Amino acid sequence: MRARRNLLILTLFLVATLLVCGITYRLALRKAEVDQKTQGAAQLQIAALDLESILQKYEALPFALGFQADVRQVLQHPDDVLAVDRLNRAFKTIQQQSQAVSIFMLDRRGLTLASSNWDDEFSFVGRDFGFRPYFSEAVQGRAGRFYGIGNISSEPGYFIAQPIYRRQDQAEGDLPIGVMVVKVDLAEFEHTWRSSADPITLTDAGGVVFLSNRPEWKYHSLQALSPPMQQALAGTHQYADLPITPVSALPPALQSGFGSHVSRPVGRLGWQLMLFPSQARMQRTAMLWTMACALLMLALAISLLAWYQHRRRLEERMASRDALRRAAAELEQRIAERTGQLTAANQALEARYEKLQQTESLLRTTQNELVQAGKLAMLGQMAAGVTHELNQPLTAIRAFADNAVKFLARGQSAQAVENLEYISSASATMGKIIAQLKGFARKSGEAVACVDLSQAIEASSLLLASECQKLGATISIDIRAAACVTGDVVRTEQVLVNLLRNALDAVEEAEHKRIAVVLEVAGGYALVRIRDSGGGIADEVAPHLFEPFFTTKSSSKGLGLGLAISSSIVQAMNGQLSAHNHEEGGAEFVVRLPLLKMET
Ligand code: ADP
Repeated sequence: MRARRNLLILTLFLVATLLVCGITYRLALRKAEVDQKTQGAAQLQIAALDLESILQKYEALPFALGFQADVRQVLQHPDDVLAVDRLNRAFKTIQQQSQAVSIFMLDRRGLTLASSNWDDEFSFVGRDFGFRPYFSEAVQGRAGRFYGIGNISSEPGYFIAQPIYRRQDQAEGDLPIGVMVVKVDLAEFEHTWRSSADPITLTDAGGVVFLSNRPEWKYHSLQALSPPMQQALAGTHQYADLPITPVSALPPALQSGFGSHVSRPVGRLGWQLMLFPSQARMQRTAMLWTMACALLMLALAISLLAWYQHRRRLEERMASRDALRRAAAELEQRIAERTGQLTAANQALEARYEKLQQTESLLRTTQNELVQAGKLAMLGQMAAGVTHELNQPLTAIRAFADNAVKFLARGQSAQAVENLEYISSASATMGKIIAQLKGFARKSGEAVACVDLSQAIEASSLLLASECQKLGATISIDIRAAACVTGDVVRTEQVLVNLLRNALDAVEEAEHKRIAVVLEVAGGYALVRIRDSGGGIADEVAPHLFEPFFTTKSSSKGLGLGLAISSSIVQAMNGQLSAHNHEEGGAEFVVRLPLLKMET
Protein backbone atom coordinates (compact mmCIF):
# COMPACT_ATOMS: atom_id res chain seq x y z
CA MET A 1 0.00 0.00 0.00
CA ARG A 2 2.75 2.38 1.09
CA ALA A 3 4.94 1.30 -1.86
CA ARG A 4 2.15 2.06 -4.32
CA ARG A 5 1.56 5.45 -2.75
CA ASN A 6 5.30 6.19 -2.92
CA LEU A 7 5.36 5.19 -6.60
CA LEU A 8 2.44 7.50 -7.30
CA ILE A 9 4.11 10.39 -5.48
CA LEU A 10 7.35 9.74 -7.37
CA THR A 11 5.53 9.70 -10.71
CA LEU A 12 3.65 12.88 -9.86
CA PHE A 13 6.86 14.54 -8.78
CA LEU A 14 8.64 13.48 -12.00
CA VAL A 15 5.77 14.81 -14.10
CA ALA A 16 5.80 18.06 -12.12
CA THR A 17 9.58 18.32 -12.55
CA LEU A 18 9.29 17.78 -16.30
CA LEU A 19 6.53 20.36 -16.51
CA VAL A 20 8.43 22.91 -14.45
CA CYS A 21 11.62 22.26 -16.44
CA GLY A 22 9.72 22.61 -19.71
CA ILE A 23 8.15 25.90 -18.64
CA THR A 24 11.48 27.14 -17.34
CA TYR A 25 13.12 26.27 -20.66
CA ARG A 26 10.47 28.14 -22.62
CA LEU A 27 10.58 31.19 -20.36
CA ALA A 28 14.38 31.20 -20.19
CA LEU A 29 14.60 30.91 -24.00
CA ARG A 30 12.21 33.80 -24.44
CA LYS A 31 14.12 35.84 -21.89
CA ALA A 32 17.44 34.95 -23.55
CA GLU A 33 15.99 36.02 -26.92
CA VAL A 34 14.83 39.32 -25.50
CA ASP A 35 18.19 39.82 -23.73
CA GLN A 36 20.16 38.91 -26.83
CA LYS A 37 18.09 41.16 -28.97
CA THR A 38 18.49 44.03 -26.53
CA GLN A 39 22.22 43.40 -26.38
CA GLY A 40 22.30 43.05 -30.18
CA ALA A 41 20.39 46.29 -30.59
CA ALA A 42 22.89 48.06 -28.34
CA GLN A 43 25.78 46.56 -30.26
CA LEU A 44 24.15 47.56 -33.53
CA GLN A 45 23.66 51.06 -32.29
CA ILE A 46 27.37 51.40 -31.64
CA ALA A 47 28.23 49.88 -35.02
CA ALA A 48 25.72 52.11 -36.78
CA LEU A 49 27.10 55.21 -35.10
CA ASP A 50 30.57 54.11 -36.12
CA LEU A 51 29.50 53.70 -39.71
CA GLU A 52 27.53 56.91 -39.77
CA SER A 53 30.50 58.82 -38.46
CA ILE A 54 32.77 57.36 -41.15
CA LEU A 55 30.27 58.18 -43.85
CA GLN A 56 29.74 61.61 -42.40
CA LYS A 57 33.48 62.20 -42.36
CA TYR A 58 33.67 61.89 -46.13
CA GLU A 59 30.30 63.42 -46.88
CA ALA A 60 31.58 66.95 -47.41
CA LEU A 61 34.88 65.96 -49.06
CA PRO A 62 33.67 65.94 -52.73
CA PHE A 63 31.88 69.21 -52.21
CA ALA A 64 35.02 70.81 -50.80
CA LEU A 65 37.11 69.39 -53.61
CA GLY A 66 34.92 71.28 -56.07
CA PHE A 67 36.70 74.41 -54.92
CA GLN A 68 40.10 73.18 -56.09
CA ALA A 69 41.80 75.72 -58.36
CA ASP A 70 42.27 73.48 -61.36
CA VAL A 71 38.86 71.78 -61.27
CA ARG A 72 37.02 74.17 -63.58
CA GLN A 73 40.12 74.69 -65.72
CA VAL A 74 40.30 70.95 -66.42
CA LEU A 75 36.56 70.61 -66.93
CA GLN A 76 36.52 73.43 -69.41
CA HIS A 77 39.87 72.57 -71.02
CA PRO A 78 40.40 68.85 -70.68
CA ASP A 79 43.41 69.04 -72.94
CA ASP A 80 45.26 71.39 -70.58
CA VAL A 81 47.79 68.74 -69.72
CA LEU A 82 49.53 70.79 -67.08
CA ALA A 83 46.30 71.62 -65.29
CA VAL A 84 45.24 67.94 -65.45
CA ASP A 85 48.60 66.89 -64.03
CA ARG A 86 48.35 69.39 -61.20
CA LEU A 87 44.85 68.26 -60.38
CA ASN A 88 45.86 64.59 -60.46
CA ARG A 89 48.66 65.29 -58.01
CA ALA A 90 46.44 67.38 -55.78
CA PHE A 91 43.83 64.56 -55.74
CA LYS A 92 46.50 62.01 -54.80
CA THR A 93 47.78 64.16 -51.96
CA ILE A 94 44.29 64.73 -50.61
CA GLN A 95 43.42 61.07 -51.06
CA GLN A 96 46.46 60.02 -49.07
CA GLN A 97 45.69 62.53 -46.34
CA SER A 98 42.01 61.68 -46.07
CA GLN A 99 42.56 57.93 -46.44
CA ALA A 100 39.85 57.70 -49.04
CA VAL A 101 40.30 54.93 -51.62
CA SER A 102 40.27 57.29 -54.53
CA ILE A 103 39.24 60.74 -55.59
CA PHE A 104 38.32 61.42 -59.18
CA MET A 105 36.50 63.90 -61.36
CA LEU A 106 34.09 63.16 -64.19
CA ASP A 107 32.91 65.48 -66.87
CA ARG A 108 29.28 65.92 -67.65
CA ARG A 109 29.16 62.70 -69.71
CA GLY A 110 30.74 60.58 -67.09
CA LEU A 111 34.26 60.47 -68.43
CA THR A 112 37.08 60.63 -65.89
CA LEU A 113 39.22 63.68 -66.44
CA ALA A 114 41.42 63.51 -63.34
CA SER A 115 41.95 60.89 -60.64
CA SER A 116 44.10 60.30 -57.60
CA ASN A 117 45.17 56.99 -59.13
CA TRP A 118 46.20 58.59 -62.43
CA ASP A 119 49.60 56.87 -62.22
CA ASP A 120 48.21 53.44 -61.21
CA GLU A 121 47.85 50.35 -63.31
CA PHE A 122 44.11 50.65 -62.92
CA SER A 123 43.93 54.40 -63.42
CA PHE A 124 40.44 55.79 -63.78
CA VAL A 125 41.57 58.55 -66.09
CA GLY A 126 39.71 58.32 -69.40
CA ARG A 127 37.21 55.77 -67.95
CA ASP A 128 33.51 56.26 -68.44
CA PHE A 129 31.40 55.94 -65.27
CA GLY A 130 28.27 57.39 -66.81
CA PHE A 131 26.32 54.24 -65.94
CA ARG A 132 26.91 54.58 -62.20
CA PRO A 133 23.88 55.82 -60.27
CA TYR A 134 25.99 58.25 -58.21
CA PHE A 135 26.96 60.00 -61.50
CA SER A 136 23.43 60.25 -62.76
CA GLU A 137 22.33 61.68 -59.40
CA ALA A 138 25.15 64.21 -59.24
CA VAL A 139 24.88 65.30 -62.86
CA GLN A 140 21.29 66.15 -62.05
CA GLY A 141 22.46 68.47 -59.30
CA ARG A 142 21.98 66.18 -56.33
CA ALA A 143 24.48 64.49 -54.12
CA GLY A 144 25.02 60.94 -55.33
CA ARG A 145 25.75 58.07 -53.00
CA PHE A 146 26.36 54.51 -53.96
CA TYR A 147 27.96 51.32 -52.77
CA GLY A 148 29.38 48.91 -55.28
CA ILE A 149 32.30 46.92 -56.48
CA GLY A 150 34.76 48.95 -58.45
CA ASN A 151 34.49 48.42 -62.16
CA ILE A 152 38.19 48.80 -62.73
CA SER A 153 39.71 47.99 -59.37
CA SER A 154 37.17 45.26 -58.47
CA GLU A 155 37.32 46.60 -54.93
CA PRO A 156 34.08 47.43 -53.17
CA GLY A 157 33.60 50.92 -51.89
CA TYR A 158 31.22 53.69 -51.00
CA PHE A 159 31.00 56.42 -53.60
CA ILE A 160 30.02 59.97 -52.73
CA ALA A 161 29.48 62.30 -55.66
CA GLN A 162 28.79 66.06 -55.80
CA PRO A 163 28.01 68.19 -58.87
CA ILE A 164 30.48 70.88 -60.00
CA TYR A 165 29.13 74.04 -61.49
CA ARG A 166 30.73 76.50 -63.81
CA ARG A 167 30.99 79.12 -61.18
CA GLN A 168 31.98 78.52 -57.65
CA ASP A 169 28.99 80.45 -56.35
CA GLN A 170 26.42 78.42 -58.19
CA ALA A 171 23.67 80.57 -59.75
CA GLU A 172 19.99 79.70 -60.22
CA GLY A 173 19.48 77.48 -63.27
CA ASP A 174 23.15 76.43 -63.56
CA LEU A 175 23.74 72.90 -64.75
CA PRO A 176 26.62 70.84 -63.44
CA ILE A 177 29.61 70.78 -65.73
CA GLY A 178 31.19 67.86 -63.93
CA VAL A 179 31.00 65.52 -60.97
CA MET A 180 33.46 65.12 -58.09
CA VAL A 181 33.61 61.61 -56.65
CA VAL A 182 35.22 60.21 -53.49
CA LYS A 183 35.43 56.44 -52.99
CA VAL A 184 35.62 55.25 -49.40
CA ASP A 185 36.61 51.80 -48.24
CA LEU A 186 34.31 50.30 -45.63
CA ALA A 187 36.40 47.10 -45.20
CA GLU A 188 38.05 48.52 -42.09
CA PHE A 189 34.68 49.08 -40.60
CA GLU A 190 33.92 45.46 -41.38
CA HIS A 191 37.08 44.42 -39.51
CA THR A 192 35.75 45.82 -36.26
CA TRP A 193 32.96 43.23 -36.41
CA ARG A 194 35.38 40.34 -36.39
CA SER A 195 35.41 40.31 -32.58
CA SER A 196 31.67 39.67 -32.50
CA ALA A 197 30.74 36.00 -32.23
CA ASP A 198 27.36 36.70 -33.79
CA PRO A 199 27.01 37.35 -37.51
CA ILE A 200 26.67 41.06 -38.41
CA THR A 201 25.67 42.14 -41.88
CA LEU A 202 25.12 45.35 -43.73
CA THR A 203 22.54 44.99 -46.49
CA ASP A 204 21.52 47.41 -49.13
CA ALA A 205 17.96 48.54 -49.80
CA GLY A 206 17.43 45.48 -52.00
CA GLY A 207 18.43 43.10 -49.22
CA VAL A 208 21.86 42.19 -50.61
CA VAL A 209 24.58 41.64 -48.01
CA PHE A 210 27.63 43.67 -48.95
CA LEU A 211 29.49 43.84 -45.66
CA SER A 212 29.63 41.09 -43.07
CA ASN A 213 31.90 39.37 -40.56
CA ARG A 214 30.70 36.18 -42.27
CA PRO A 215 32.52 36.47 -45.67
CA GLU A 216 30.53 33.53 -47.11
CA TRP A 217 27.31 35.56 -46.86
CA LYS A 218 28.73 38.51 -48.78
CA TYR A 219 26.99 39.31 -52.10
CA HIS A 220 24.08 37.04 -51.23
CA SER A 221 20.61 38.32 -50.59
CA LEU A 222 18.40 37.81 -47.56
CA GLN A 223 15.59 36.77 -49.89
CA ALA A 224 15.56 35.81 -53.53
CA LEU A 225 15.79 38.97 -55.67
CA SER A 226 12.89 39.95 -57.92
CA PRO A 227 13.66 40.15 -61.69
CA PRO A 228 13.39 44.00 -61.79
CA MET A 229 15.89 44.16 -58.96
CA GLN A 230 18.25 41.85 -60.82
CA GLN A 231 17.93 44.01 -63.90
CA ALA A 232 18.67 47.15 -61.92
CA LEU A 233 21.80 45.55 -60.48
CA ALA A 234 22.94 44.47 -63.92
CA GLY A 235 22.44 48.06 -65.17
CA THR A 236 24.62 49.65 -62.49
CA HIS A 237 27.17 46.80 -62.27
CA GLN A 238 26.82 47.39 -58.57
CA TYR A 239 28.28 44.07 -57.58
CA ALA A 240 30.46 43.56 -60.64
CA ASP A 241 27.72 41.39 -62.12
CA LEU A 242 28.19 38.64 -59.53
CA PRO A 243 25.24 36.23 -59.45
CA ILE A 244 23.28 37.26 -56.32
CA THR A 245 21.69 34.19 -54.70
CA PRO A 246 19.87 34.07 -51.38
CA VAL A 247 21.80 33.04 -48.24
CA SER A 248 19.24 30.32 -47.74
CA ALA A 249 20.51 28.72 -50.96
CA LEU A 250 24.01 28.29 -49.53
CA PRO A 251 25.19 24.89 -48.23
CA PRO A 252 23.76 24.35 -44.72
CA ALA A 253 27.15 24.65 -43.02
CA LEU A 254 27.61 28.13 -44.45
CA GLN A 255 24.12 29.15 -43.42
CA SER A 256 24.67 28.50 -39.72
CA GLY A 257 23.64 31.46 -37.57
CA PHE A 258 21.25 32.80 -40.21
CA GLY A 259 17.73 33.33 -38.96
CA SER A 260 16.14 35.52 -36.34
CA HIS A 261 17.87 38.88 -36.11
CA VAL A 262 17.73 42.51 -34.98
CA SER A 263 18.25 45.30 -37.45
CA ARG A 264 18.41 49.05 -37.66
CA PRO A 265 18.60 51.41 -40.62
CA VAL A 266 21.88 53.15 -41.30
CA GLY A 267 23.10 55.68 -43.85
CA ARG A 268 21.10 57.43 -46.50
CA LEU A 269 20.69 54.54 -48.90
CA GLY A 270 18.13 52.46 -47.03
CA TRP A 271 20.80 50.14 -45.67
CA GLN A 272 20.06 47.83 -42.81
CA LEU A 273 22.60 46.83 -40.22
CA MET A 274 21.69 43.37 -38.91
CA LEU A 275 22.83 41.20 -36.06
CA PHE A 276 21.99 37.53 -35.82
CA PRO A 277 22.14 36.52 -32.16
CA SER A 278 23.39 32.97 -31.71
CA GLN A 279 20.45 30.65 -31.35
CA ALA A 280 22.73 28.01 -29.85
CA ARG A 281 23.86 30.40 -27.14
CA MET A 282 20.28 31.27 -26.30
CA GLN A 283 19.45 27.60 -26.12
CA ARG A 284 22.54 27.04 -23.96
CA THR A 285 21.43 29.81 -21.59
CA ALA A 286 17.92 28.40 -21.48
CA MET A 287 19.40 24.96 -20.89
CA LEU A 288 21.48 26.28 -18.00
CA TRP A 289 18.39 27.78 -16.44
CA THR A 290 16.55 24.51 -16.97
CA MET A 291 19.40 22.59 -15.36
CA ALA A 292 19.40 24.99 -12.43
CA CYS A 293 15.67 24.46 -12.14
CA ALA A 294 16.12 20.67 -12.31
CA LEU A 295 18.78 20.93 -9.61
CA LEU A 296 16.41 23.00 -7.50
CA MET A 297 13.72 20.40 -7.99
CA LEU A 298 16.24 17.72 -7.04
CA ALA A 299 17.17 19.67 -3.94
CA LEU A 300 13.48 20.06 -3.19
CA ALA A 301 12.96 16.33 -3.72
CA ILE A 302 15.87 15.53 -1.41
CA SER A 303 14.58 17.95 1.22
CA LEU A 304 11.09 16.49 0.94
CA LEU A 305 12.50 12.99 1.16
CA ALA A 306 14.58 13.93 4.20
CA TRP A 307 11.54 15.57 5.78
CA TYR A 308 9.43 12.53 4.96
CA GLN A 309 12.07 10.18 6.40
CA HIS A 310 12.32 12.35 9.49
CA ARG A 311 8.56 12.26 9.92
CA ARG A 312 8.48 8.52 9.44
CA ARG A 313 11.27 8.02 11.98
CA LEU A 314 9.33 10.25 14.35
CA GLU A 315 6.19 8.20 13.75
CA GLU A 316 8.10 4.97 14.28
CA ARG A 317 9.60 6.34 17.48
CA MET A 318 6.15 7.37 18.67
CA ALA A 319 4.78 3.95 17.74
CA SER A 320 7.58 2.15 19.59
CA ARG A 321 7.08 4.46 22.57
CA ASP A 322 3.39 3.60 22.52
CA ALA A 323 4.19 -0.09 22.25
CA LEU A 324 6.61 0.26 25.13
CA ARG A 325 4.02 2.10 27.18
CA ARG A 326 1.45 -0.58 26.37
CA ALA A 327 3.92 -3.31 27.28
CA ALA A 328 4.75 -1.52 30.53
CA ALA A 329 1.03 -1.17 31.31
CA GLU A 330 0.50 -4.84 30.51
CA LEU A 331 3.46 -5.76 32.67
CA GLU A 332 2.14 -3.62 35.50
CA GLN A 333 -1.24 -5.27 35.17
CA ARG A 334 0.36 -8.70 35.15
CA ILE A 335 2.46 -7.77 38.16
CA ALA A 336 -0.66 -6.53 39.90
CA GLU A 337 -2.44 -9.78 39.03
CA ARG A 338 0.54 -11.83 40.16
CA THR A 339 0.81 -9.74 43.34
CA GLY A 340 -2.88 -10.33 43.91
CA GLN A 341 -2.39 -14.05 43.43
CA LEU A 342 0.64 -14.02 45.71
CA THR A 343 -1.23 -12.01 48.32
CA ALA A 344 -4.10 -14.46 48.10
CA ALA A 345 -1.65 -17.37 48.34
CA ASN A 346 0.04 -15.64 51.24
CA GLN A 347 -3.27 -15.12 52.96
CA ALA A 348 -4.15 -18.75 52.30
CA LEU A 349 -0.77 -19.75 53.74
CA GLU A 350 -1.30 -17.52 56.72
CA ALA A 351 -4.73 -19.02 57.25
CA ARG A 352 -3.23 -22.48 56.93
CA TYR A 353 -0.40 -21.51 59.25
CA GLU A 354 -2.95 -20.25 61.77
CA LYS A 355 -4.88 -23.44 61.42
CA LEU A 356 -1.63 -25.37 61.85
CA GLN A 357 -0.88 -23.40 64.95
CA GLN A 358 -4.35 -24.08 66.23
CA THR A 359 -3.89 -27.75 65.40
CA GLU A 360 -0.50 -27.69 67.02
CA SER A 361 -1.83 -26.12 70.20
CA LEU A 362 -4.70 -28.58 70.09
CA LEU A 363 -2.17 -31.37 69.64
CA ARG A 364 -0.10 -30.01 72.43
CA THR A 365 -3.07 -29.87 74.73
CA THR A 366 -4.10 -33.31 73.61
CA GLN A 367 -0.55 -34.51 74.08
CA ASN A 368 -0.40 -33.00 77.54
CA GLU A 369 -3.68 -34.56 78.28
CA LEU A 370 -2.49 -37.84 76.80
CA VAL A 371 0.72 -37.61 78.76
CA GLN A 372 -1.27 -36.95 81.82
CA ALA A 373 -3.67 -39.76 80.88
CA GLY A 374 -0.64 -42.00 80.17
CA LYS A 375 0.78 -41.03 83.51
CA LEU A 376 -2.50 -41.85 85.15
CA ALA A 377 -2.67 -45.13 83.31
CA MET A 378 0.90 -45.77 84.32
CA LEU A 379 -0.09 -44.68 87.80
CA GLY A 380 -2.84 -47.29 87.72
CA GLN A 381 -0.29 -49.85 86.68
CA MET A 382 2.06 -48.50 89.23
CA ALA A 383 -0.64 -48.46 91.86
CA ALA A 384 -1.14 -52.16 91.24
CA GLY A 385 2.67 -52.65 91.30
CA VAL A 386 3.01 -50.40 94.33
CA THR A 387 0.21 -52.22 96.07
CA HIS A 388 1.98 -55.44 95.34
CA GLU A 389 5.40 -54.04 96.20
CA LEU A 390 4.12 -52.38 99.35
CA ASN A 391 1.95 -55.32 100.31
CA GLN A 392 4.90 -57.65 100.65
CA PRO A 393 6.92 -55.60 103.16
CA LEU A 394 3.65 -54.60 104.87
CA THR A 395 2.64 -58.28 105.31
CA ALA A 396 6.18 -59.03 106.46
CA ILE A 397 6.13 -56.02 108.84
CA ARG A 398 2.84 -57.23 110.34
CA ALA A 399 4.19 -60.78 110.75
CA PHE A 400 7.45 -59.53 112.22
CA ALA A 401 5.60 -57.12 114.48
CA ASP A 402 3.29 -59.90 115.71
CA ASN A 403 6.33 -62.10 116.26
CA ALA A 404 8.17 -59.26 118.02
CA VAL A 405 5.23 -58.87 120.39
CA LYS A 406 5.37 -62.60 121.06
CA PHE A 407 9.16 -62.50 121.51
CA LEU A 408 8.87 -59.58 123.94
CA ALA A 409 6.17 -61.43 125.87
CA ARG A 410 8.45 -64.41 126.04
CA GLY A 411 11.31 -62.17 127.06
CA GLN A 412 13.26 -62.98 123.90
CA SER A 413 14.31 -59.38 123.39
CA ALA A 414 17.18 -60.19 121.05
CA GLN A 415 14.78 -61.78 118.53
CA ALA A 416 12.40 -58.92 119.10
CA VAL A 417 15.14 -56.42 118.19
CA GLU A 418 16.00 -58.41 115.07
CA ASN A 419 12.36 -58.33 114.05
CA LEU A 420 12.13 -54.60 114.73
CA GLU A 421 15.25 -54.00 112.62
CA TYR A 422 13.69 -55.91 109.79
CA ILE A 423 10.53 -53.87 110.20
CA SER A 424 12.62 -50.72 110.05
CA SER A 425 14.39 -51.76 106.85
CA ALA A 426 11.16 -52.84 105.22
CA SER A 427 9.52 -49.52 106.04
CA ALA A 428 12.60 -47.76 104.63
CA THR A 429 12.08 -49.67 101.38
CA MET A 430 8.46 -48.62 101.36
CA GLY A 431 9.49 -45.02 101.99
CA LYS A 432 11.81 -45.15 98.98
CA ILE A 433 9.02 -46.36 96.72
CA ILE A 434 6.71 -43.66 97.94
CA ALA A 435 9.38 -41.00 97.57
CA GLN A 436 9.91 -41.88 93.92
CA LEU A 437 6.23 -41.94 93.21
CA LYS A 438 5.73 -38.59 94.86
CA GLY A 439 7.79 -36.76 92.26
CA PHE A 440 6.22 -38.57 89.38
CA ALA A 441 2.61 -38.07 90.34
CA ARG A 442 2.97 -34.29 90.32
CA LYS A 443 1.65 -32.83 87.10
CA SER A 444 4.16 -30.63 85.41
CA GLY A 445 2.91 -27.12 84.81
CA GLU A 446 3.81 -25.05 81.82
CA ALA A 447 7.55 -25.31 82.35
CA VAL A 448 9.09 -22.07 81.24
CA ALA A 449 12.38 -22.06 83.14
CA CYS A 450 15.57 -22.19 81.20
CA VAL A 451 17.74 -25.16 82.03
CA ASP A 452 21.41 -24.89 81.28
CA LEU A 453 22.27 -28.48 80.50
CA SER A 454 26.00 -28.17 81.22
CA GLN A 455 25.18 -26.87 84.70
CA ALA A 456 22.61 -29.66 85.18
CA ILE A 457 25.26 -32.24 84.16
CA GLU A 458 27.82 -30.79 86.55
CA ALA A 459 25.33 -30.73 89.42
CA SER A 460 24.13 -34.30 88.79
CA SER A 461 27.66 -35.71 88.59
CA LEU A 462 28.51 -33.83 91.79
CA LEU A 463 25.58 -35.51 93.58
CA LEU A 464 27.09 -38.90 92.73
CA ALA A 465 30.68 -37.94 93.42
CA SER A 466 30.95 -39.82 96.75
CA GLU A 467 29.38 -42.97 95.28
CA CYS A 468 31.81 -42.74 92.39
CA GLN A 469 34.71 -42.48 94.71
CA LYS A 470 33.50 -45.47 96.68
CA LEU A 471 33.32 -47.56 93.56
CA GLY A 472 36.52 -46.18 92.05
CA ALA A 473 34.70 -45.04 88.95
CA THR A 474 35.43 -41.89 86.92
CA ILE A 475 32.94 -39.56 85.25
CA SER A 476 34.37 -37.51 82.38
CA ILE A 477 32.30 -34.57 81.14
CA ASP A 478 32.73 -33.18 77.64
CA ILE A 479 30.71 -30.01 76.99
CA ARG A 480 31.00 -29.49 73.25
CA ALA A 481 28.43 -26.73 73.04
CA ALA A 482 26.42 -24.66 75.45
CA ALA A 483 22.78 -25.67 75.40
CA CYS A 484 19.69 -24.38 77.11
CA VAL A 485 16.36 -26.13 77.11
CA THR A 486 12.94 -25.34 78.49
CA GLY A 487 12.00 -27.35 81.52
CA ASP A 488 12.29 -27.97 85.26
CA VAL A 489 15.88 -27.96 86.61
CA VAL A 490 15.18 -30.42 89.42
CA ARG A 491 13.45 -32.87 87.13
CA THR A 492 16.15 -32.57 84.50
CA GLU A 493 18.75 -33.31 87.17
CA GLN A 494 16.54 -36.20 88.37
CA VAL A 495 16.73 -37.69 84.87
CA LEU A 496 20.49 -37.22 84.67
CA VAL A 497 21.05 -38.63 88.21
CA ASN A 498 18.91 -41.65 87.30
CA LEU A 499 20.92 -42.30 84.17
CA LEU A 500 24.27 -41.75 85.91
CA ARG A 501 23.25 -44.04 88.75
CA ASN A 502 22.25 -46.77 86.30
CA ALA A 503 25.65 -46.28 84.61
CA LEU A 504 27.40 -46.59 87.98
CA ASP A 505 25.41 -49.81 88.66
CA ALA A 506 26.44 -51.07 85.23
CA VAL A 507 30.19 -50.44 85.74
CA GLU A 508 30.21 -51.89 89.24
CA GLU A 509 31.51 -55.26 88.06
CA ALA A 510 33.58 -53.93 85.18
CA GLU A 511 37.35 -53.87 85.07
CA HIS A 512 37.57 -50.21 83.98
CA LYS A 513 34.86 -48.16 85.59
CA ARG A 514 34.40 -45.22 83.25
CA ILE A 515 31.45 -43.05 82.53
CA ALA A 516 31.57 -40.43 79.79
CA VAL A 517 29.05 -37.62 79.53
CA VAL A 518 28.97 -35.60 76.29
CA LEU A 519 26.83 -32.53 75.63
CA GLU A 520 26.42 -31.49 72.01
CA VAL A 521 24.02 -29.64 69.78
CA ALA A 522 22.61 -30.86 66.43
CA GLY A 523 19.65 -29.78 64.31
CA GLY A 524 18.00 -27.59 66.92
CA TYR A 525 18.32 -30.23 69.65
CA ALA A 526 20.60 -30.65 72.60
CA LEU A 527 21.98 -34.19 72.97
CA VAL A 528 23.25 -35.54 76.26
CA ARG A 529 25.05 -38.84 75.74
CA ILE A 530 25.82 -40.92 78.82
CA ARG A 531 28.02 -43.82 77.98
CA ASP A 532 29.40 -46.40 80.40
CA SER A 533 32.01 -49.15 80.25
CA GLY A 534 29.60 -51.70 81.66
CA GLY A 535 28.27 -54.88 80.14
CA GLY A 536 25.67 -53.16 77.99
CA ILE A 537 21.95 -53.86 77.70
CA ALA A 538 21.10 -57.53 77.37
CA ASP A 539 18.90 -58.43 74.37
CA GLU A 540 16.09 -59.72 76.58
CA VAL A 541 16.20 -56.53 78.66
CA ALA A 542 16.10 -54.02 75.77
CA PRO A 543 12.34 -54.31 74.95
CA HIS A 544 11.36 -53.72 78.62
CA LEU A 545 13.85 -51.01 79.51
CA PHE A 546 11.30 -48.23 79.95
CA GLU A 547 8.59 -50.30 81.59
CA PRO A 548 7.87 -49.38 85.22
CA PHE A 549 9.05 -51.84 87.80
CA PHE A 550 11.14 -53.70 85.28
CA THR A 551 14.52 -54.35 86.85
CA THR A 552 17.30 -56.84 86.71
CA LYS A 553 18.63 -55.65 90.00
CA SER A 554 18.05 -56.94 93.52
CA SER A 555 15.13 -55.36 95.34
CA SER A 556 17.53 -53.49 97.61
CA LYS A 557 19.10 -51.76 94.63
CA GLY A 558 16.47 -51.18 92.07
CA LEU A 559 12.78 -50.68 91.85
CA GLY A 560 12.62 -50.57 88.05
CA LEU A 561 11.06 -47.10 88.08
CA GLY A 562 14.11 -44.97 87.13
CA LEU A 563 13.98 -45.23 83.34
CA ALA A 564 10.17 -45.20 83.23
CA ILE A 565 10.02 -41.93 85.17
CA SER A 566 12.99 -40.42 83.32
CA SER A 567 11.42 -41.18 79.95
CA SER A 568 8.16 -39.58 81.08
CA ILE A 569 9.98 -36.43 82.24
CA VAL A 570 11.92 -36.14 78.98
CA GLN A 571 8.78 -36.61 76.91
CA ALA A 572 7.07 -33.93 78.94
CA MET A 573 9.86 -31.62 77.85
CA ASN A 574 9.09 -32.55 74.20
CA GLY A 575 12.19 -34.64 74.14
CA GLN A 576 13.10 -38.26 73.76
CA LEU A 577 15.08 -40.75 75.77
CA SER A 578 16.69 -43.63 73.89
CA ALA A 579 19.22 -46.35 74.69
CA HIS A 580 21.50 -48.54 72.65
CA ASN A 581 24.66 -50.54 73.03
CA HIS A 582 27.81 -48.71 71.89
CA GLU A 583 29.81 -50.48 69.23
CA GLU A 584 32.88 -50.30 71.46
CA GLY A 585 30.98 -51.90 74.35
CA GLY A 586 28.83 -50.61 77.14
CA ALA A 587 25.44 -48.95 77.04
CA GLU A 588 24.78 -45.42 75.79
CA PHE A 589 21.71 -43.47 76.85
CA VAL A 590 20.83 -40.40 74.82
CA VAL A 591 18.62 -37.57 76.08
CA ARG A 592 17.36 -35.49 73.16
CA LEU A 593 15.76 -32.16 74.07
CA PRO A 594 14.66 -29.25 71.85
CA LEU A 595 16.90 -26.22 72.26
CA LEU A 596 15.40 -23.15 73.83
CA LYS A 597 14.60 -20.63 71.15
CA MET A 598 16.32 -17.48 72.27
CA GLU A 599 14.22 -14.41 71.60
CA THR A 600 16.50 -11.84 70.16
P1 ADP B 1 16.49 -50.12 88.32
O1 ADP B 1 17.69 -49.34 88.04
O2 ADP B 1 15.85 -49.82 89.59
O3 ADP B 1 16.58 -51.51 87.94
P2 ADP B 1 15.68 -48.84 85.96
O4 ADP B 1 14.34 -48.58 85.33
O5 ADP B 1 16.52 -47.71 86.20
O6 ADP B 1 15.42 -49.60 87.26
O7 ADP B 1 16.44 -49.87 85.07
C1 ADP B 1 15.79 -50.96 84.52
C2 ADP B 1 16.77 -51.96 84.11
O8 ADP B 1 17.49 -51.55 82.93
C3 ADP B 1 17.86 -52.22 84.99
O9 ADP B 1 17.48 -53.14 86.00
C4 ADP B 1 18.96 -52.76 84.14
O10 ADP B 1 18.79 -54.16 83.91
C5 ADP B 1 18.76 -52.06 82.92
N1 ADP B 1 19.73 -51.02 82.85
C6 ADP B 1 19.50 -49.74 83.22
N2 ADP B 1 20.61 -49.02 83.03
C7 ADP B 1 21.56 -49.86 82.51
C8 ADP B 1 22.92 -49.74 82.11
N3 ADP B 1 23.52 -48.55 82.20
N4 ADP B 1 23.54 -50.84 81.62
C9 ADP B 1 22.90 -52.02 81.57
N5 ADP B 1 21.63 -52.19 81.91
C10 ADP B 1 20.98 -51.15 82.40
